[in-house]
Amino acid sequence: MTREDFQALYELQQIDSAIDARNALLNGADDGSGAQAALEAAQARLSELEEDVKKKQTHQRQLELDLETILAERAEKSERCYGGTVSDPKELSALAAKIDELTRNADRHEDMILELLERLEAAEAALAEQQATVERLTAEHARIVEHFDGSTSRAREEIAELQARRAELVPQIDPGLVHEYENLRARFDGIGVAALVDGKCAVCNVAVPRVQQPMIERGAAAVKCESCRRILVIPEGG
Ligand SMILES: [Zn+2]
Repeated sequence: MTREDFQALYELQQIDSAIDARNALLNGADDGSGAQAALEAAQARLSELEEDVKKKQTHQRQLELDLETILAERAEKSERCYGGTVSDPKELSALAAKIDELTRNADRHEDMILELLERLEAAEAALAEQQATVERLTAEHARIVEHFDGSTSRAREEIAELQARRAELVPQIDPGLVHEYENLRARFDGIGVAALVDGKCAVCNVAVPRVQQPMIERGAAAVKCESCRRILVIPEGG
């Protein structure tokens, strides 16, 4: 290991901290996923209501067709019963009974149609209300996504640039040192490297023994802060 490894490692820490700060900003920003979930749930409910209205309309048409058939049959039976073409009393009374039965059946169908119309009206009102809800949630979601895109585009661009620089930098550093740095970052809240400034660790502010300072300057091996365990580096030019 050389001084250059530690200088590059110090730069790597600064890049990683900058990426972490931007990611924290992005994580804290509302990307619209909550609004999206609400919209999807409302759309699913809308489909159910559309299906319900369609089923009721189909049922209504069927009842109306059935009613027409019953009325046509009754008209035909009435024609025979009262048209003077049938004179057999038995047949006439059978016809009259059939006409009564058809009349009762027609009444029953009219009642069912009326009742269904009421339920259809309620279903259509629920559907219209849900359509308004979906429109409102669609606009809400679009607004949040637009705001997220606008407010985070710079952070996302910067992360891309920082990651490109990171990818250039990592191969220039001793792999064992990078590995140790990654372990420390994972353990110590993202900070694996500390600058040595005025004889002190810049992370924990504890004095570093003078005897260690030439070793840190040489950069032949990693020297860690005895207090906070970060790898100590003397930054060049600052
Ligand atoms: Zn320290």
